[in-house]
Amino acid sequence: MEFALRSDQELLKKSVREFAQTEIAPLVEEMEKTCQTPMNLIKKMGSLGFLGVAAPQEYGGTGMGSLARMLMLEEIARVSAAVAMVVQCAHFGIAAVFWGGGQTVRDKYLPSLISGDTICALGVTESSGGSDPAGIATEADDRGDCFILNGRKTFISNSHVSEIAMIVAKTKEGPPKEFTAFLVDRRFGGFRPGRLENKIGFHGCTTGELVLENCRVPREYMLGSEGKGLQLALRGITEYGRTGIAALSLGLIRASLDAAVKFAGERVIYGKPITGLQSVQFKIAEIYADLEACKLLAYKAAWLIDQGRRADAEVAAAKFYCSEAALRCTRKAMDIMGAYGCMKDFAVERYCRDAQLLVPADGTNDIMRIIAGKAASAGREQ
Ligand SMILES: Cc1cc2nc3c(=O)[nH]c(=O)nc-3n(C[C@H](O)[C@H](O)[C@H](O)COP(=O)(O)OP(=O)(O)OC[C@H]3O[C@@H](n4cnc5c(N)ncnc54)[C@H](O)[C@@H]3O)c2cc1C
Repeated sequence: MEFALRSDQELLKKSVREFAQTEIAPLVEEMEKTCQTPMNLIKKMGSLGFLGVAAPQEYGGTGMGSLARMLMLEEIARVSAAVAMVVQCAHFGIAAVFWGGGQTVRDKYLPSLISGDTICALGVTESSGGSDPAGIATEADDRGDCFILNGRKTFISNSHVSEIAMIVAKTKEGPPKEFTAFLVDRRFGGFRPGRLENKIGFHGCTTGELVLENCRVPREYMLGSEGKGLQLALRGITEYGRTGIAALSLGLIRASLDAAVKFAGERVIYGKPITGLQSVQFKIAEIYADLEACKLLAYKAAWLIDQGRRADAEVAAAKFYCSEAALRCTRKAMDIMGAYGCMKDFAVERYCRDAQLLVPADGTNDIMRIIAGKAASAGREQ
């Protein structure tokens, strides 16, 4: 078993870490206040190949794959989970267009998605319940050369910074119901962002509604084949969304460990730094153990994807385990810091708020347990 990263992966990790410290860290406070995504930063990241890390080279990506992407997101999330969320969702959009788009759609959008000039959102969830995709009410009415889309998507990441979106809509009432994916462009008309949510965390990543009102989508903007929209979305949610959430969790755990260790070394009570207190050491050890366990789960899931293997159960396990570890660890870091941990002067309260959003995003952890539990019960292991 080989645990060492390849030299190009090491190099990527190091350069992203430096970038995050010099370019992202100075923007965090502003994002916390304004809840706006710094789009110049995203474009800069696009120009450096961050958005195309897993995208094909023929369109300007670097094609480094899922594990490299995970390492990159982890380093970004160590500084800002919100920016990592923007980037991880942008990766998904690129994959959706590459997997599902015809040649014209790919040629038209992929270069600008990879450069960061265009952002593609993913619109699956509706108020009828994200865990129950059969409840999707958005309809696509087949008019021959086009589809007319009507509906309202909720809790969509990058809702207010994306020009295009993959929208999953009902194309057959059934039974069984059928759902198809479309690439929808604001320039079509009848497609706009709606309500902007006011979230507890991820303040640099917009989450909100996407509204479709008699939006005319040309037939060639169908992604994948008719009736297979949910499968396409689910592949992206698994390979990009859930692995992305695992990576963000790793970043938040690492950041919490760094913050807790630094604070404990500087905080003096009873005439000594609190690092000497066994209760503090135990918490630090627990955060460290969670970080190492999460790395194994998350990196293995990404490695399986890079081998071209199905990894639904491994990804689901990584998603729920890592996000819950992030909740535990950010909380423990706050506890180590006493009252200081609850103050806005220290970043750990932000880590804690951001970690909570990892639980429902890209499928709730209950749903992840169902997926992982089914595979484990069937004795599947790889
Ligand atoms: C930060 C963030 C970003 C997001 N980004 C996107 C995005 O870009 N695109 C998008 O389409 N969606 C996005 N979502 C929505 C997300 O996918 C949904 O929140 C998620 O699928 C859960 O849906 P829900 O919130 O409607 O909860 P519900 O489905 O209403 O679930 C409510 C509760 O019931 C439980 N539950 C539901 N079904 C079962 C079951 N079968 N067995 C056991 N328990 C169950 C859930 O675990 C949960 O505790 C985002 C959400 C967040 C928080």
